[in-house]
Amino acid sequence: MPEATRHTLVPWCDPGPDEVGRPRARGGDGPVHELSLCRSIHDIVDRARDGRRVLTVNLQVGQLRQVVPDTLTHCWGLVTAEGPLAGSRLVVDHVPVVLDCRECGARTTAGQALVLTCTSCGSGAVDLRSGEELLVTSLDLVKEP
Ligand SMILES: [Zn+2]
Repeated sequence: MPEATRHTLVPWCDPGPDEVGRPRARGGDGPVHELSLCRSIHDIVDRARDGRRVLTVNLQVGQLRQVVPDTLTHCWGLVTAEGPLAGSRLVVDHVPVVLDCRECGARTTAGQALVLTCTSCGSGAVDLRSGEELLVTSLDLVKEP
C-alpha cells in the first residue's frame, strides 16, 4: 500500500455570491449548481495532481453557498466516474456563517434560516467573518510507479 501524501493547494475560490453577504438565489436549478461546482473542482484538482492518483479531495464550503452535501458528493461521483479522478472521495468541511456585530461587538453564528443580523442585539450592521468559503484546501495523493 503506497503511502498517501497531503498536498496543500493555494486556496482556490470561485467568484461566489454576487454581492457580499447576499446568498445566491436558489431557484429551481436542483443539482445543476452542485454539478457545475463539481466540474470546476474536477478541473482544479486534475491540474494540481500532477500525474498522481487522488485519494481524497478536501473541500471547505461555507454555509452561504447553500450546497447540499449529499448532492455534492453524489455529483462528484458522476463527474469523476470516468477519467483520472475515478474512485476519489470528496470530503466536505462545512463552514458556518459567523457575523461580527458593529453595534454591540458580539460574534454570533447564523442559524439555519441564514438571517444575517446580530442574534445578540438584532442589529443588521454586521460584518461577515465566514460562510462564503468555497475552497479546495488539500488533496491526498498517491504517487504510482
Ligand atoms: Zn449586536
